[in-house]
Amino acid sequence: MRAVTFQAPGEVRVEERPEPELLTEDDAIVRVEATGICGSDLHIYHGRVQIEPGFTIGHEFVGTVTAAGPGVSRAAEGDRVLGCYCSACGECFFCERGEFHKCDEGRVFGHGKTLGSLQGAQAESVLVPHANLTLRRVPEGMSDDAALFAGDVMGTGFHAIETTGLKPGGTAAVLGLGPVGLCAVQAALAAGAEKVIAVDSVDERLRMAESFGATPVHLTGEDPRAAVKAATEGRGVDVTVDAVGHPDAFDMACRMTRKAGTVSAIGVYAERMEVHMGVIWIKALTIRTGHANVIKHVDTVLQKMNAGELDPTPLVTHHMKLAEAPEAYAIYDRHEALKIVMEP
Ligand SMILES: [Zn+2]
Ligand SMILES: [Zn+2]
Repeated sequence: MRAVTFQAPGEVRVEERPEPELLTEDDAIVRVEATGICGSDLHIYHGRVQIEPGFTIGHEFVGTVTAAGPGVSRAAEGDRVLGCYCSACGECFFCERGEFHKCDEGRVFGHGKTLGSLQGAQAESVLVPHANLTLRRVPEGMSDDAALFAGDVMGTGFHAIETTGLKPGGTAAVLGLGPVGLCAVQAALAAGAEKVIAVDSVDERLRMAESFGATPVHLTGEDPRAAVKAATEGRGVDVTVDAVGHPDAFDMACRMTRKAGTVSAIGVYAERMEVHMGVIWIKALTIRTGHANVIKHVDTVLQKMNAGELDPTPLVTHHMKLAEAPEAYAIYDRHEALKIVMEP
């Protein structure tokens, strides 16, 4: 089968790889019909996240189950399914508490040895461990484009809002309108937010957030903090999502959130950074961090997508073939696409 492999920073290749085989009784094999390129794939592409050359990348997929071990009860051969970006064992201390994203045995598709040596989904077939937790049947009538968001990007946008306890009638700001930020905008509105202020410096992304129902504010052309003040009688928003993962964004989030409000840092942080603890403490802010517990949220997210409350399909800007992966990565790297979906 063909698979997209990482070679060196700036270089991916489409290579022949052996067909995956079932290894344990709760494994399944999925023939991939659509697979997305994600911002985290770009970290690998740039060499910021290091993986072994020749490793198959990708972690967003929709397809059909072609084989399932005897322990797989929630999906069967022939089912159309979507995958979560990671697997979890379902039995450890963390899984028992529903913290599937912190599973002791957790593995992320397509991220090399450091995240569990699980070959990626940008391939014609993918081996899925713990299929009962990792896979879900795609609801009748849902497109591939929509479904592949449920197991990663929409699940992450949803998590960013869900963990803040945003209430109907509340207010939110979202900093950074990449795919996760745009999904967080939708999740905030679906949670009943009365006002969502969406901040970025790319006009197209601001327009898309506006089309979802948010108030767009240009990061440098306008004054985001003033816009938040004006929209909240000077108080600040109940919830701010930092979907950037940069100290400046985090600082802005702390400043535009109201007293006793919540900052949700869903953007990726890996380094030490300085925070103004005085601001956080005096305002009694709650800070939520970490990557998303997608396995926990995936059923709710699918339900809301099925009901039309969440709809990630406008985010898909490009459809390409798996064989065109090197070009697809180059396009994504040049920020010419919001979401590229590849089909084998
Ligand atoms: Zn991703
Ligand atoms: Zn576990």
